[in-house]
Amino acid sequence: MDAQEFRARGREMVDYVADYLETIGTRTPLPSVLPGYLRELIPDEAPLNGESWEEVKKDIDRVIMPGVTHWHSPQFHAYFPTSSSYPAILGDMLSDGIGCIGFTWVTSPACTELEVSMMDWLAKMLNLPQEFLFSGGGKGGGVIQGTASEATLVALLSARTTMINKLKKDNPQMTQGQIVDKLVAYCSEEAHSSVVRASLIGMVQMKSLPTDDKGSLRGSELESAIIKDKEQGLIPFFLCATVGTTSTCGTDNLLELGPICECNKHDIWMHVDAAYAGSAFICPEFRPLLDGVEHSMSFNFNPHKWLQVTFDCSALWVKDSGLVSGAFELNPVYLNHDNQGQAMPDYRHWQIPLGRRFRSLKLWFVLRMFGVTGLQEQIRKDVSLAHQFEDLVKSDDRFEIVRPVTFGLVCFRLKGTNEINETLTKKINDDRRIHLTPSKVKDTFFLRFAVCATKTQVSDVKFAWTVIQELTDSLLSSPK
Ligand code: PLP
Repeated sequence: MDAQEFRARGREMVDYVADYLETIGTRTPLPSVLPGYLRELIPDEAPLNGESWEEVKKDIDRVIMPGVTHWHSPQFHAYFPTSSSYPAILGDMLSDGIGCIGFTWVTSPACTELEVSMMDWLAKMLNLPQEFLFSGGGKGGGVIQGTASEATLVALLSARTTMINKLKKDNPQMTQGQIVDKLVAYCSEEAHSSVVRASLIGMVQMKSLPTDDKGSLRGSELESAIIKDKEQGLIPFFLCATVGTTSTCGTDNLLELGPICECNKHDIWMHVDAAYAGSAFICPEFRPLLDGVEHSMSFNFNPHKWLQVTFDCSALWVKDSGLVSGAFELNPVYLNHDNQGQAMPDYRHWQIPLGRRFRSLKLWFVLRMFGVTGLQEQIRKDVSLAHQFEDLVKSDDRFEIVRPVTFGLVCFRLKGTNEINETLTKKINDDRRIHLTPSKVKDTFFLRFAVCATKTQVSDVKFAWTVIQELTDSLLSSPK
């Protein structure tokens, strides 16, 4: 494909994507294919000689679309949202076009410097403590990771190295292995599985502590676990607190947990995972739920979940970037450059992979074209839709709301057994007009209705509720 053909095909592809997104509501959110469907549709081997774009293009509709789950369908209510917007797609197009790998400043100064500025813009939008900003005058700053899972892992590994270094300084006789064996990290029982996974990769134990009846990890639970573990010779070093848990959007009590983690108390690295809910804190009315974040060493949320930025874009801030690079920094000659260690970070020291995409472009386009007010409007619309769905659930006394609705997620269930709710979930997803996913907390199984697509309207919420009621009627009237 030469430049002339690329111009023509590129325009066609933009039309294809715009048509796809503008008509997405006509597709069922879940495809009907079975595992293995695609292998039947393509040859077993790559073609020896190149094919024409016409041949490739035909197969988008034949091979790919039948197996796509339409996350941007207004009938998609599963998991949490993944954002999409035209400015973000344009940002990714340009990033692909430039195709730089910005692991150090010199490998593309614009890539690093735009990211530095965007992370400060975002931090100000969220009213994060000054210590997290590059412009805050300290050692803080932000970095775009691929996912919240990576952000948690980076935080945990940084905390692990920080604690090992501290202990080795005071106890030179202790080996690294002896220290690691005793390290213990904490999260709530409702933390995302990626948090426990970080501990598996970091080879430290992670204790999942019980939450209260609102799904919140409280200070007293953490403190008694720390005291007990210290009595047994263990070394508490890390807490991952969640703001907006995956199952129910519960929020750990940062104001209680934070002071316990401070270095004048138990000296534990508190990381805050607000993967989904973080975007809401650009709205002043939600920001109090993040109070206490000033006690944390690192904070993360995913603009790719709820801030109109396409996957992947996960924003991580740290108060002391030296503690992150301390865990990851290696300096082979082939990666060095004349300006390193000066005004701008070399982001390769802030992440696990070396290579990194120019992800700040899409963030820049989105922040400029929506503006803070445009992004706030979208968050408020989604939360309002969630409350409208909540009202519909409450108006039907066969159902109950499981946890208070704070953001864009409604957790609800049929009054009765877990089994009947499992059957209802299956019926809904088998029906395929809408798609949602369940969860289970403290042995209670429930359904989760998340307002996901940017385009979701009141009519879609009402449609989803009509489908759920219809399937409930059929379930409750069928012979046992
Ligand atoms: N943390 C929370 C609270 C989440 O809800 C999720 C995913 O929904 C994650 C972490 C993992 O996100 P990612 O896919 O960015 O790793």
